[in-house]
Amino acid sequence: GREWHLVARPHGWPTPADFALRETAVPEVGEGQILVRNQAFSVDPYMRGRMNDVKSYVPPFQLDRPMDGGAVGEVIASRAGDLAVGDHVLHNLGWREYAVLDARHATKIDPSLASLTAYLGVLGMPGLTAYAGLLEVASFKEGDAVFVSGAAGAVGSEVGQIARLKGASRVIGSAGSDEKVKLLVEEYGFDAAFNYKNGDVAQQLKDAAPDGIDVYFDNVGGDHLEAALSALNVHGRIAVCGMISMYNATEPSPAPRNLALVIGKRLRMQGLLVSDHSALHPKFAEEVSAWIRSGELKYSETVVPGIENGVEAFLGMLRGENTGKMIVSLG
Ligand code: NDP
Repeated sequence: GREWHLVARPHGWPTPADFALRETAVPEVGEGQILVRNQAFSVDPYMRGRMNDVKSYVPPFQLDRPMDGGAVGEVIASRAGDLAVGDHVLHNLGWREYAVLDARHATKIDPSLASLTAYLGVLGMPGLTAYAGLLEVASFKEGDAVFVSGAAGAVGSEVGQIARLKGASRVIGSAGSDEKVKLLVEEYGFDAAFNYKNGDVAQQLKDAAPDGIDVYFDNVGGDHLEAALSALNVHGRIAVCGMISMYNATEPSPAPRNLALVIGKRLRMQGLLVSDHSALHPKFAEEVSAWIRSGELKYSETVVPGIENGVEAFLGMLRGENTGKMIVSLG
């Protein structure tokens, strides 16, 4: 089977030359293991951090080894009692066509309840990030005005809609194209949205939230965070989920220059890691599936076909070519 290896550590924006698609023999299936034919894998922003050789909350990718990450597929051989040939599973050996792994590292999923790819997005890790980040980390409560950046992406689009469904007084989003802004307002029910490429973020946020905001869900960092600090009301909360504007930067961002506002406004700013919130998963899955079934929560996926396009899909996601979850499908 084919698999993607990282072959050089990118400095700044990764380039296709930092990766290689290689053919390898499928390993033997050991006792307690399964062989999965991957049908789709996820490309996520956090993977950019794993391309650097630095200690972080997930270990770096090793050079000349297969990369990994979320994937869904069909079990085609099993030496594990609890998983059978034909079962579908979610697991962490993405970026490859075939995966051999211990069955205890796979989660059985039901393709009749939702599409397989939904388990990588709206019902998967990004979905739980949105749900836990808004409800637990940002301590969202009914009546809050919520601003989310990266609002047309996998996490952001779900944050805005959960806020609306849970009774936000106003939901505001920012995204990188006019089409995405239109989608946020017309399909996802945001009250206001703006294209951060069309002008000053602070001014556009002020216009979109004349009465200020109570929660900022940060996916972007930099000038977005600075704008949010200015717009936040007293006792406002910031859930720091990601800072994608900095992932390929070679110089630190000067913003936010107004961090001292935290004092007078008594703001609370808290980082979030989705892995801390697995206890919330059952509640999340139940509530979000119900909203999807009733049509109250909508989601998009950008599916790039072909393992050979995996790296392009990843780079395209960093450039904003996705609406909703970016996924690579494998025939
Ligand atoms: P998305 O689906 O949102 O895809 C990334 C998006 O980021 C792009 O589509 C692009 O959209 C936007 N973007 C890229 N560069 C910039 C920039 N310079 N300024 C503003 N926007 C930019 O990805 P996810 O939903 O998977 O992830 C969203 C955020 O959540 C990321 O920061 C990620 O690291 C974080 N995250 C954190 C987790 C945690 O546990 N802490 C778990 C999962 C995700 P556009 O066209 O709008 O520019």
